Amino acid sequence: MSESQPVSVLDLPSHALTPGMRQYQEVKRQHPDCLVMLRMGDFYEMFYQDAITAAKELEITLTSRGMGEKKAPLAGVPFHALETYLGKLVKKGYKVAIVEQLEDPKFAKGLVKRGLARIVTPGTVMESSLLEEKENNYIVALTSSMEGYTLAASDISTGEFFVTPAGSLHQLATHLAQLQPRECILPASLQIDEELLHLLRKNELFIQIREDYFFQEERAKNLLLQHFQIPSLESFGIEEKQQIKTSGALLQYLLETQKNALSHLRFLRVKSNHHHLLLDAVTLRNLELLKNAKDGSLRGTLLSVLDKTLTPLGARLLKKWITEPLCDIPAITQRLDALQFLQQQLLLREELRDALKEIADIERLLSRINYGNATPKDVLALKYSLRQIPVLKSAFSRIKEKVLSENSREEKASSGEHFFPLMLLPMAEMSFPADIFQEIESAVRDDAPLFLREGGIIRKGYHSELDALLHISINSKKFLQELEEKERQKTGISTLKIGYTSVFGYFIEVTKKNVHLVPSTYIRKQTTANGERYITEELKIEEEKILTAQEKILALEYELFQKLLKKIALQTEEFQIMAQKISVLDVLCSLAMVASEQGYVRPEFVDAPVLQIAQGRHPVLEKMESRFIANDVFLASGEMMIITGPNMSGKSTIMRQTALIVLLAQMGCFVPAEKAVLGLADRIFTRIGASDDLSAGQSTFMAEMQETASILHNATERSLIILDEIGRGTSTFDGVSLAWSVAEHIHTTIKAKTLFATHYHVLNKLAENLPRIKNYNVAAKEIEGEVVLLHKLVPGGTDQSFGIHVAKLAGLPKEVVERAQELQEALVKDDEMVRRLKVKKLEEQKSLQGF
Ligand code: ATP
Repeated sequence: MSESQPVSVLDLPSHALTPGMRQYQEVKRQHPDCLVMLRMGDFYEMFYQDAITAAKELEITLTSRGMGEKKAPLAGVPFHALETYLGKLVKKGYKVAIVEQLEDPKFAKGLVKRGLARIVTPGTVMESSLLEEKENNYIVALTSSMEGYTLAASDISTGEFFVTPAGSLHQLATHLAQLQPRECILPASLQIDEELLHLLRKNELFIQIREDYFFQEERAKNLLLQHFQIPSLESFGIEEKQQIKTSGALLQYLLETQKNALSHLRFLRVKSNHHHLLLDAVTLRNLELLKNAKDGSLRGTLLSVLDKTLTPLGARLLKKWITEPLCDIPAITQRLDALQFLQQQLLLREELRDALKEIADIERLLSRINYGNATPKDVLALKYSLRQIPVLKSAFSRIKEKVLSENSREEKASSGEHFFPLMLLPMAEMSFPADIFQEIESAVRDDAPLFLREGGIIRKGYHSELDALLHISINSKKFLQELEEKERQKTGISTLKIGYTSVFGYFIEVTKKNVHLVPSTYIRKQTTANGERYITEELKIEEEKILTAQEKILALEYELFQKLLKKIALQTEEFQIMAQKISVLDVLCSLAMVASEQGYVRPEFVDAPVLQIAQGRHPVLEKMESRFIANDVFLASGEMMIITGPNMSGKSTIMRQTALIVLLAQMGCFVPAEKAVLGLADRIFTRIGASDDLSAGQSTFMAEMQETASILHNATERSLIILDEIGRGTSTFDGVSLAWSVAEHIHTTIKAKTLFATHYHVLNKLAENLPRIKNYNVAAKEIEGEVVLLHKLVPGGTDQSFGIHVAKLAGLPKEVVERAQELQEALVKDDEMVRRLKVKKLEEQKSLQGF
């Protein structure tokens, strides 16, 4: 490519362009920030700068098209590989505009009509191969007002759409940590200060800035009313101005990029935070709920223990349950009832799980069906999924009958032992969409191919015109076989063959040595290396029949299939509700199975601010340790446990497991303990270890103090606070003083239940004056110079750290360990001497003052 060649198509006058290139220029002009891919036959082509970029990013060949002045850089990808290349481009942060042919080039008069089909961005991907099955793919819009941030979010691959007041920057961080969106739309006037910028960067969001009119209230409202076909937004419970603006802007962006493929966005939910136990972003990370803190993988996470789901629908819902535990006893009880039932009814659970295994990702199938790009395989997957509905129903109805008869026989209904849980009723009464099932069953062949254009999709007997065409096609093929035989006889050429190529159509092939036997009625068409190819009048007529029939078959099959997709799409709402029920059932079965396998118990909720965990275990660690030691944690209202103990004794483990047990209980799950009696917690706060959330110029200690400040500002009497080593990143005196005053403040002012682990043994003195502070330590014994960690939480403080022992275990050189031992002994002596001197001095002062 010469250096001087203009590379932007927008710089060229349109008369200098070929007609096809003009179409490209037009789209590029409207969407200059996109890479434009133009469908041309079997390829998606890119030109000029886009071609150069794509060739570099996709490692594909850069060529050129046209002659002289009209020569343009060109790069293309085959149509069937679009998903792969699209994935690469989107991952690298490009927006891609896909321009499709709106008519079959064969029938086009002149230039083929083309139009923008959609714009693909990280947050609007719909292709299944580019999405993680078990993860949502959210796009969000963000605005701010006096009341704080508002966030609208949608996953267009599943049809979810909601808006939520996101509050302060701190709360916004939590929302982003929970949703992990890929893309974010912001109004141009949004004040992006350093902290917000840091947050957006940390979440690796693809940012799209839009002018403020995009977020204008009236415009947003009209758009929402029009899209959802509702008279007023009150039907969705949306009244708040900011929520209208934010969700309207998000919808506008989606319509702009997806064109009209959003019919599966049926509801706009307002998500309030009142009904949830709040976990901030730091806690989500510290407790390693979805990702482990080291490498972001699933290993060692709570999710990895709980996830026995069998459908992507269930897997995605489970993540939501984990990050949004409930804060409402009746709702928690409903889940626990259902779980208990499924735990006890082992056979039912197995039956349900067998059916769930066969159920596909209905939500994402529906999105593709609504978009019109579903494949025959997608529709068949829907059919196989639907087939499981009667299986689920019959399993439930059998058990319902059994439970009812036991109830009447034993009259145990009131004891709660034999009853059918409320939460499972909607699943037991799921309606089977027999009409759609039948329609798919009679329309689509079980062996339908992957691609639409290959034909062979529609079953015989579904459509009479198609049947007639298939008949012609089959008969003609038979006719050709007979013709071949007839010509062999007539000419005496036994090797004569009828063949077909897409360029020449049907022909009669005769090898070189037999050419002299060919009759004069044969018309020579082509010479090959081995012989000659001919056509005859008769063959031409038959060819016409076959090709027209086949063309018509393909077109008709395509049309019938699209009609079928439209018919299914009409019932999107019913299918979405069905998918929701299935996802809940899948999660419940998964949790019931974990509860059974791991020996979890049902937590009891009481109307008092208590936390009583008998013999609690860490759900993740207990699976890794061959002998895990269970521990009791009892906290009455406003109580704080100061936990001391050697390094590696298990202080963090006890604190984390307490937080995890509270979280599990409030998500409606059984817990790893012998017994758990809990009052509802409103929030869980954790301040653990070094923060990895360091923005530029911030020290570890600063980050630690910010996290502590946030806890002190937001915790309430109903919160659970976990503090692991406060004030470690500064001098001992500063550290102890800070830890001391933080503990005092929580005890006296906030009164939240707190677990506070520390190596500052002096903090044990807090208990002497503050009534609700209790000292505990994790026991260790020294046997013949070796330290044995018992991992057992026992009452009372300790001043043993065994830090040097741990250092020895870690392989510090022998002489360094021995020297440390020496120094430690000297320091302890010095410390005692200083203390004695101080006491003596104080006593002298007191006696001088006449006490
Ligand atoms: P440090 O003070 O050094 O931060 P710690 O007291 O917080 O240590 P943990 O990190 O909780 O100690 O635990 C250290 C290791 O001890 C764990 O990784 C685990 O292998 C083991 N452990 C902790 N608690 C138990 C337990 N209850 N039963 C069995 N093993 C345990």
